Amino acid sequence: MGLIALPKAAVAPPRRLFTPRLIATLALFVVSATTFCTIVGYVLVRQADDRQALERRGALTGAMQEIRASGADFSRLDPKLIRSLERTAGLKDLRFETEPAAGRREMQSVLDGQGRIVGWFSWEADRSMAAALGQLQPLLATTGICLIGFSVLALWQIRRAVRDLGRSETLAWSLAHEDSLTGLPNHRKMTELIETALAARTIDETVTLAFIDLDGLNDINDALGQSTGDQFLIAWAKRLREVLPDGAMAGRFDGDEFAVVMTAADPAAAELALEAAAAALARPFWINEQVVQASVTAGLAHVPLHAVNRDELARRADLALRTAKRKRRGGMKTFDPAMDVEFNDRRFIERELKRAIADDMIDVHYQPIITADGNRIVGAEALARWRHPVRGFIPPASFIPVAEESGLMGRLGELVLRRALADAKRWPDLSIAVNLSPVQVHDAALIDLVSDVLEETGIAPQRVILEVTEGVLIDDPEEAKIRLEALRALGLQLALDDFGTGYSSLAYLQQFKFDKLKIDRAFVSPLGQSPSGQAMIQAIVTLGRALGLTLLAEGVETEEQRVILRLAGCDEMQGYLFARPGPREALDQLIADNASPAAARAS
Ligand code: C2E
Ligand code: MG
Ligand code: MG
Repeated sequence: MGLIALPKAAVAPPRRLFTPRLIATLALFVVSATTFCTIVGYVLVRQADDRQALERRGALTGAMQEIRASGADFSRLDPKLIRSLERTAGLKDLRFETEPAAGRREMQSVLDGQGRIVGWFSWEADRSMAAALGQLQPLLATTGICLIGFSVLALWQIRRAVRDLGRSETLAWSLAHEDSLTGLPNHRKMTELIETALAARTIDETVTLAFIDLDGLNDINDALGQSTGDQFLIAWAKRLREVLPDGAMAGRFDGDEFAVVMTAADPAAAELALEAAAAALARPFWINEQVVQASVTAGLAHVPLHAVNRDELARRADLALRTAKRKRRGGMKTFDPAMDVEFNDRRFIERELKRAIADDMIDVHYQPIITADGNRIVGAEALARWRHPVRGFIPPASFIPVAEESGLMGRLGELVLRRALADAKRWPDLSIAVNLSPVQVHDAALIDLVSDVLEETGIAPQRVILEVTEGVLIDDPEEAKIRLEALRALGLQLALDDFGTGYSSLAYLQQFKFDKLKIDRAFVSPLGQSPSGQAMIQAIVTLGRALGLTLLAEGVETEEQRVILRLAGCDEMQGYLFARPGPREALDQLIADNASPAAARAS
């Protein structure tokens, strides 16, 4: 497949600070310094003793000279004189002898007037300091042993501390570079790995970055519990590593977000490898005696095809992922320059929409809902309208998804709801339908908002129909159910909008209580052109009837479609055949013109 391995060093932990060699060097230094200090200390003590001995000997010589000058005979020295000499010279046990003294006594020869030796003075060698040191020997030895013991203990402690430090260094390194659950490199480490791969890339190689979202992890956690979810993640990450080609590196960014960086011979080789990996990851896992399965959504970009540096590569892979996610789960998208254009456009819309909402520049138009016989207006659907001062009319299909993605949908939805219910006071005989985005349904504040607006406007809840699409039921069915039931409890009606374009799961129709089914234009347009279209409408109507729902056909544009739909059993219709959405004054006019389809068409 031509995939090239990344340098192994890129994932090695850092070197430890306190190595055994450093500890040994430190210990040797301490021992050497101690030995040196001891020797120097001993030499200094000896020198001090020698200096004192010399001074005493000098004092004795001086005293002897004085004795000699007094004419005294050394061979018959008075013991008193010797004692006095002993005191004067500071000597201990001074004796005069005619023979040199044996043992460790110090001596000084005594000469007569002709320079002949007549005897020797001897005295006890006084090495008081060295002696003191000698006396201290047992104490010193004990201290030494204690010191050695202490040193050993200290060394052992240091070793332990160093080992602990090493462990915490490794732990800190892991925390800083690895995801604690899966052991995969984390965001920071992946950033380094991407840089490394880019730096190591040769001119004819491709570096591919893929951002991968693990679909439905929240659902798995909710359904099977956090612990099973974690085990699934560990197993999933393990399989991811296994199925990637040699040299490809996978990392976990956060929650269900992963990334893969690989070097390949060309973009096609990398894409092939990633597709194979995605297919392998989609196979079931056996966790806690349960089968767990999830698809992935991925976006990828290549260097040098789409980017020249890491930031650009990451931005473009992210853009590809966002596009893939928008197209719903389970797909892989490679970056395309058109995505950049779309991204910039969405950014523009987001910025301008924010301002438009703040400046109250969003309008609400109304499209009448007519009885199937085409004779009577029974309601109106409120539709958001935005005329940008420069770009002109921007359709809801362009700004509603941006509002949903950028957190503006709550404010936009509230604005439309307030306006629609306030305007509905003009048409007391009509029901008023307002679209609800999934984002609004999943916001717990919705119920309070709706009851507040109902109270403020005084509109009977039975007149209000809230339209939701199947998307609401997919993302978090449990929450959606609670919220929709709360809305019904307020007395409002619920309509399932765009029926047939989403998942069209019949289970939803049973599980969630709706009052109305809005058959999407996609089923209405082919009417009159193919018999299968008619059969489809018939099937939907039969189903809706069985569930006791009101059936409304959207996007009715021709009289032929109206007749077929009426014969099929539809209750209500909405479409350009009767009226396009327009400002509230246009609906006032339609109602005033007696709201007959003929009048509507003529206007
Ligand atoms: P929808 O709720 O299904 O609204 C019907 C759409 O079909 C409207 O498009 C309407 O202008 C168009 N339509 C009606 N009759 C015909 C027809 O005979 N032929 C054709 N070709 N089209 C027809 P619009 O106003 O562009 O809105 C598109 C979608 O945007 C709406 O679909 C709804 O899902 C969404 N939308 C509009 N306003 C709001 C809003 O205030 N809140 C939310 N959440 N969504 C909104
Ligand atoms: Mg609608
Ligand atoms: Mg619709």
